[in-house]
Amino acid sequence: MIVYALHCACGHDFDQWFDNMADYDAKKAVGIPCPSCGGTEVAKAIMAPRVGKSQPAPAPACAPGGCGGGGCPMMM
Ligand SMILES: [Zn+2]
Repeated sequence: MIVYALHCACGHDFDQWFDNMADYDAKKAVGIPCPSCGGTEVAKAIMAPRVGKSQPAPAPACAPGGCGGGGCPMMM
């Protein structure tokens, strides 16, 4: 299952699930009705990826008092 962000000719944006790209093409050929106005002049909108860039984990910072061990690089 994939979801496409669709944009109708009237300017409505909506999401529609499809089994796959071929399913989208088949339904597009028949006409995908806009849920807001019922118009079938819809096109795929530019879709922002749902999976964002993975944020790098912040480097562990040593506490001002030290890490409590002898190997703290901040204490050297
Ligand atoms: Zn519409």
